[in-house]
Amino acid sequence: MALELKQLGENTWVIPGHVNIGYYEENGKGYLIDTGLDDDQGRRVLKLLSEERAAPLRAIVNTHSNADHIGANAFIQKRTNCEVWATHVEGAMTEYPSLEPVLLWAAWPFKQIRGKFIEAKPSKVTYIESEGRIMDTYLKAVPLPGHYLDMIGVTTPDDVFFLADSLFDPKILEKYRFSVMLDIASAHKTFDMIENARASWFVPCHATPTKDIHELVAQNRAGQSWITERVYQAIEGTEGISREDALSKIGMAEGLDMDAAHLLLNLVSVNAHLTYLSEQDRIEPFVKDCRLLWRVKL
Ligand SMILES: [Zn+2]
Repeated sequence: MALELKQLGENTWVIPGHVNIGYYEENGKGYLIDTGLDDDQGRRVLKLLSEERAAPLRAIVNTHSNADHIGANAFIQKRTNCEVWATHVEGAMTEYPSLEPVLLWAAWPFKQIRGKFIEAKPSKVTYIESEGRIMDTYLKAVPLPGHYLDMIGVTTPDDVFFLADSLFDPKILEKYRFSVMLDIASAHKTFDMIENARASWFVPCHATPTKDIHELVAQNRAGQSWITERVYQAIEGTEGISREDALSKIGMAEGLDMDAAHLLLNLVSVNAHLTYLSEQDRIEPFVKDCRLLWRVKL
């Protein structure tokens, strides 16, 4: 499918796709907000920009370091010599993307979890703060805690709010059931913040751009609460259950299919909800027979 630029503001566009990529111009220079998965995507984005827009690309602003957002950085940076701007922790992951599978496995990773969906090619980063004006432009960074380590949204002066992976399309939530959220309490605070934000357009990376964000926020709030309660139910009525067994219970009941990488990503989600439930004092961890188990707190 050919890529296209859809104009959302006077100087702001979106390139719709598996990952919605933002494009913005200021003072005759172009800026990308995220880049997509791989070299092929990078090539297609550059072709589109050279055909439709003449402005030289100054920088890529990365919302966070997941491979589907930074995977085309290396190709684009090599071709255009543009800068890559990212917040400190996300920038470190962008410069050293082998940390991504290490984060998943908590040790040096095996090859099945080092594919391009997990581990991007490295790119050279210039670090930015997670709040306020981005460098000397009129773009602004907005912290969006929850999904990843130090993810930001980006607002433009012509009133577009790029929301990164703070919200997912309900079809994705329905199909995969789990979505990566490292910190559920923060994700809920981010939902509240977005619900009260004003913009002409809201652009989540994995949902259709919209002028009214309320329904999508409600669907995502419900989606995360659904996982919280399913994890709680998997624990309830047992003497103690491991995170793997909790995932297996839910996954089998929902008919989910997963490979090693996908299973570990789903475990990240289960882990986050275990932390969230323990923060609410509803469950507690204990070790029995050399296994870390979780039980309902009486
Ligand atoms: Zn993503």
